[in-house]
Amino acid sequence: MTATAPREEQLWSRCAGCASLLYRKRLRRNLDVCPECGEHARLGAPERLRQLVDPGSLRPLSDRLPEMDPIDFVDVLPYPHRLTAARASTGLVEAVVCATATIGGHPVAVAVMDFRFLGGSLGCAVGELITRTAERALDDRIPLVLVTASGGARMQEGALSLMQMATVSQAIAALREAGLLTVSVLTDPTYGGVAASFATNTDLVLAESGARMGFAGPRVIRQVTGRALPEGFQTADFLLRHGQVDMVVQRRSLRGRLVALLAATRAGRPTCSPVPRQEPAPRRERLADDGAAAALPTDPPAAPASSEAGGTPAVRDGWDTVRMARHPGRPTTLDYLDSVFDGFVELHGDRLGGDCPAIVGGVARLAGRHVMVIGHQKGHTTAELVGRNFGMASPAGHRKALRLMRLAARLGLPVVTLVDTPGADPGVSAEEQGQAAAIAENILTLTVLPTPVLAVITGEGGSGGALALAVADRVLMLENAVYSVISPEGCAAILWPDRSAAPQAARALRLTAPDLCRLGVVDEVVPEPSAAAHDDPAETALRLRAALLANLLPLLDVPPAMLVRLRRQRFRRFGAARAGQRAGAR
Ligand SMILES: [Zn+2]
Repeated sequence: MTATAPREEQLWSRCAGCASLLYRKRLRRNLDVCPECGEHARLGAPERLRQLVDPGSLRPLSDRLPEMDPIDFVDVLPYPHRLTAARASTGLVEAVVCATATIGGHPVAVAVMDFRFLGGSLGCAVGELITRTAERALDDRIPLVLVTASGGARMQEGALSLMQMATVSQAIAALREAGLLTVSVLTDPTYGGVAASFATNTDLVLAESGARMGFAGPRVIRQVTGRALPEGFQTADFLLRHGQVDMVVQRRSLRGRLVALLAATRAGRPTCSPVPRQEPAPRRERLADDGAAAALPTDPPAAPASSEAGGTPAVRDGWDTVRMARHPGRPTTLDYLDSVFDGFVELHGDRLGGDCPAIVGGVARLAGRHVMVIGHQKGHTTAELVGRNFGMASPAGHRKALRLMRLAARLGLPVVTLVDTPGADPGVSAEEQGQAAAIAENILTLTVLPTPVLAVITGEGGSGGALALAVADRVLMLENAVYSVISPEGCAAILWPDRSAAPQAARALRLTAPDLCRLGVVDEVVPEPSAAAHDDPAETALRLRAALLANLLPLLDVPPAMLVRLRRQRFRRFGAARAGQRAGAR
């Protein structure tokens, strides 16, 4: 898609669509759209801003953040080397440019991603900058416009990059509450964690002509399904046909459409009596060195027999742990519903046409208290695993979970989630049914759900599919579970010469419970019996039950508004500044 300049002269470009040789100045005058075939070449963030905002109105927001490499990631190159190279080749500090400006006279806060910078990947700095832009929109009571271009979350920052999906989503939730318009403009390409959060949980979603958007990329889906993809799969027109975007817009019309939409919302908003603004969450300093317990107003309960939470974490090999987390004998959500909870009554269906077997949920009792339990369901035999799609939820599954979360809040029931999934469903129909938006809506809803939410990573916590159930007041993790932004195999395939580097990738990603506890992603490690959960499910259940009770009971006394505020603080502190401190502290 990129127009490439011939070596001898910078005056000509070859169109990636029709291979025509085009005079660069003419191409630029045509907004980098090929006059011959209409191909929209990718734009860098500075050029995109020039095209969209009123001349002279751009006020860049600061992009100064501490240098960071939060998990000391090394593949064939150390991560800081890749960052330095990206900065040198783009002239940008990060993969997003943020500003305030006017568009057709309407003031906006705007963040534009740049795919040239490490594939537009969402890391802590990008998440922090976009969050600050959304907070600026809230402060100034102006709409937020996001222009996305991203391959997904930034693997080199591990689970901390996954957390950014929640951090930005909760900033968008605050704009929703304040009645301020949020608009995302999808440009080519928008995938993974960006697609499954702020690219699709805005009020309006516009797709630029030729843009492709999806949660799973076409290469992965082809590999998993072994089938050819439908014509035009994940393109803007495909997204429009499947109800996932409000409109497909040619680049030359984009600015005009934005002006019209911004004008409509401005006219509709009362100017004399604005919606009362929610008090901004104070940017609280971290309370505990290990990052745990910072979100609780009261003293955290004594860790139930946990030798690792806050103490000296055991050194555990990442790849060995991955294999343990995937063990077919490991207790599943239904096993725990039987052993840890009483009186489970399963509730089915998303009310939109499906009941996903990979997600189970319903009301149950935990030591006599009613709770809503929602979890991924795998299985022990091949038949069970196939029947449950290996615990990979479809959009119907995410929407069932969403329905049950909202029901729980209405009924005043706490939510307990049990997370065990390799990831969301990498299939054609899942994409057709709006997988990215389904995950994005769950993440956003959990950031504001007015009832206690307690999440436990019991086995595999696979990327956005896991996070869709794991934005919680307290996040626990079984000792041999893993939680990661990408599977080690997927990471190896992208950053190493081949997938056989999965064990190295598993170690580099810092996906074990002690690692994540140190990073503050997880609050407490639930120890497993000496061998592992699958060797002694009964003892594992006892320990999980004790940990659930110890963490849930203090939450029950916290007023819902306070819970939401503290949950927001919990996810707000995964920004680059904090991570920089963590990296520097080691
Ligand atoms: Zn062309």
